[in-house]
Amino acid sequence: MIRLIGNHRVIGAIENSAKNSTLPHAIILEGDEGTGKHTLAEFIALSSVCSGVNKPCEVCRECRLFLNKNHPDVAYIKPEDKKKSISVEQIRNLRADAFVKSHLGGKKVYIIEKADSMNDSSQNALLKILEEPPQSIVFILLCESASKMLQTIISRCVVFSLVPPSFSEAFQFLKSNCKAPEENIKSTLQLTHNNIGKSLELLKKKPSEKSKIANEFCSALTAGSPAYELLKIVKPLEKDRLLTSDFINRLKLNITDLIRENPGGNNVPDLVNKYDIICQSEDFLALNVNLSLFFTALVSNLAE
Ligand SMILES: [Zn+2]
Repeated sequence: MIRLIGNHRVIGAIENSAKNSTLPHAIILEGDEGTGKHTLAEFIALSSVCSGVNKPCEVCRECRLFLNKNHPDVAYIKPEDKKKSISVEQIRNLRADAFVKSHLGGKKVYIIEKADSMNDSSQNALLKILEEPPQSIVFILLCESASKMLQTIISRCVVFSLVPPSFSEAFQFLKSNCKAPEENIKSTLQLTHNNIGKSLELLKKKPSEKSKIANEFCSALTAGSPAYELLKIVKPLEKDRLLTSDFINRLKLNITDLIRENPGGNNVPDLVNKYDIICQSEDFLALNVNLSLFFTALVSNLAE
């Protein structure tokens, strides 16, 4: 079963068109990573191939084939190997394939991932198919922002924008879909601003993995290690904003624990000062700064 969360207006519109068999033949789903573009694309694909009355019925042969990831007329197009974008070659192959009759006699669906990373030649090749689409084809383009795509493509598609759901919707979903304790779910949702995909990814990581860097950093910091040592410890975080936010939270907890362990200690004023610096760094992080710059600033403030 495909569960759609939040985005009530968009989902309502798509469910209605699915029921009435009036889904557009070219759809752009835009939104941040983790906002449910893939899930919604699956729902649209399922509704498009379904041969039941109430689409998607999830019980007809076509639905079952799709849900078992075995439907021959649904194709995912994504950047090949380690390339960043879909090549013009891939789009030409798609075009040739689109003119071949569907295997099961129904609609053919192409789900095109990272569509906004295609260069102009790939997009122009795609435009040719969108301009004269073969019969019974559905194109679903997934992207973070449609504005990065050619206006000529956008004008031939119906664009739906996805945002994270409300806190309570996201919380309910995660509570029934992952084993993490409620407190963890709450703090993770706060960190990801209710983004379900990102939360799931974060909750999947083992607590020991996440706390390792914060523990190591805290020990080095309190031992007075030089800045370059501290920077070396946080290096693995430089590519991940979410893990960095998580790291900052853990670091604050570590420092608070140290203060609690020995409230009358000589080092308490220094720890309180470090705690404040870490809190201030959160505002800086919220500005979407480059992470390597963020850590350099944090470490130099802490080492002062
Ligand atoms: Zn069906």
